Amino acid sequence: MPKERILHGIPASKGVGIGKAFIYEIKKTEVFQTPILSVYLKDEVVRFENAILKTKEELQRIKDQINREIGEDFGQFLDAQIMMLEDETILDAVKKRIFDEKKNAEYIYHEVISEYARKLSESKNAYFKERVIDIYDVAERVIKNLLGLSHTSVLEAPPGSVIIAHDIPPSEATLINRKNVVGIAMELGGRTSHTAITARALEIPAILGIGEFVSKVQNGDDVIVDGERGIVIIHPGSSRVNFYEEQKKKTIQVTKALLPVCELPPETRDGKHIDISANIEFFAEAEQAIRYGAIGIGLFRTEFLYLARRGSPSEEEQFRVYNALARKIKPHPVIIRTFDLGGDKIFSDYHEANPFLGWRAIRVCLQEPEFFKTQMRAILRASVNKNIRIMFPMIATYEEIRRVKLIFNEVKQELKSKKIEFDDSIQLGIMVETPSAALMSSSLAQEVDFFSIGSNDLTQYTLAVDRGNEKISQLFDHFHPAVLRLIKETIDSGHKGNIWVGICGELASDPIAIPLLVGLGIDELSMSPSSIPRAKLILRTLTIPQCKEIAEEALRLRTALEVRRFLNRVLRKQFPGIEDAIK
Ligand code: PEP
Ligand code: MG
Repeated sequence: MPKERILHGIPASKGVGIGKAFIYEIKKTEVFQTPILSVYLKDEVVRFENAILKTKEELQRIKDQINREIGEDFGQFLDAQIMMLEDETILDAVKKRIFDEKKNAEYIYHEVISEYARKLSESKNAYFKERVIDIYDVAERVIKNLLGLSHTSVLEAPPGSVIIAHDIPPSEATLINRKNVVGIAMELGGRTSHTAITARALEIPAILGIGEFVSKVQNGDDVIVDGERGIVIIHPGSSRVNFYEEQKKKTIQVTKALLPVCELPPETRDGKHIDISANIEFFAEAEQAIRYGAIGIGLFRTEFLYLARRGSPSEEEQFRVYNALARKIKPHPVIIRTFDLGGDKIFSDYHEANPFLGWRAIRVCLQEPEFFKTQMRAILRASVNKNIRIMFPMIATYEEIRRVKLIFNEVKQELKSKKIEFDDSIQLGIMVETPSAALMSSSLAQEVDFFSIGSNDLTQYTLAVDRGNEKISQLFDHFHPAVLRLIKETIDSGHKGNIWVGICGELASDPIAIPLLVGLGIDELSMSPSSIPRAKLILRTLTIPQCKEIAEEALRLRTALEVRRFLNRVLRKQFPGIEDAIK
């Protein structure tokens, strides 16, 4: 019996997952040259053909899943890769060279593909040039299949898998199948990294920022992910498994007990209504948002459309998703955030020293106006449903919102001239997620209809702490008094400017933050769908005067720890019976 091992990390998504290790690796596979005896050359060709077949099946499965979960057409980009697997010139060249050179299939295939890719990259045709990435993607998959190595896509995880990974890029995270994956354990990442956000969206327990451990785990090892305590147990003993089976049952009971709350209005005990809406990444999550009682979508992170497709979605493709979402959520509002690419949601080969301080979000869109306008047109066209709002991420300066509005008005004019209908009074808002936006919020409030505070980035930029870096995760705390002061400033300026102010960062769903945010005057809390019942339950126990007092006291404190301790104490003392809800 192998020895039980306990690993500690950052609890990024709650719950308990009990399953078998599924190792996901993004490392490039090394290919070595091996001579093959003449008698085995035929077998080598068969081995190659089987790997091609297996790869084709994998890609077809991935394509179907993307079409199903992200939106029809979004998996189409994989057609180019499937076609490459069917390319007779490549297949024949590989088979011929295996016989001529008497060398192993992976080596020959790698050689043939490299030559092919080199020729394409020299091409003047931009389309052919772009296909080079696809070629290497496909080749990596074929080579892994030839070598019987671990998986190139999380999509291949069988039922009951715990994904074990060094890192999962956002484009890959979009492919995680919630039916098969029961847990995630990762060497990198923090609570607000995008893998964490996706895990919470999919309700999969996750521990991130564990540090080096993947090399010590084998595919199929028994693993438990404890999303409450922040631990991962490899080779758990039977008493440990029994304990966690019990825990799982309890969690299911608590979730069930909270379900009736979904139906109740989101208001304080003294009758103040606060919108509680949902953050979603995928269209498929709209269903969950409704089920958990969200008043609309407070944040639709559209970059996942781009990442899943690995390229710009067309206006038509985007329109279909936005329109379907608006229709599904009607009459409640849907806030569509324009692409927040860059940062850790890397989308191009452009390497920069500080991606979070670099070519990200609105900066990309303002430099690529045609790309930006395509998305605006799609959003505006879907706004005929009368419940869409548009929101711009990472605004840091006043000029940025002015430029955004100029472009937005151009697009409106263009649609008008073509007699294409849209909602001319569509609400326009910005995310307040940079310290400069928070400090300039009184000016910015003159330009928009609402603010939505992005506490994840606001914390990262205020405290100068990379939100995804596990080495400094103890420094990342959204209760830091500096962050709280910026939030207060934003809410006050918004209200002075007669606009509403919401929050869609992770702070919104932190149970102990709810009285504080309500006390500061927040109008809307937007969070992952599964957090909604608990937030509603807490909200419904509070009164406005109590919350105001709590906020005033919290703002007098000097450290994040003092604030946390205070809020924990207050919630437990002032609202007995709330213990179960805030576990
Ligand atoms: C935020 O920064 O708080 C936010 C909600 O946006 P994202 O997590 O997508 O950067
Ligand atoms: Mg953000």
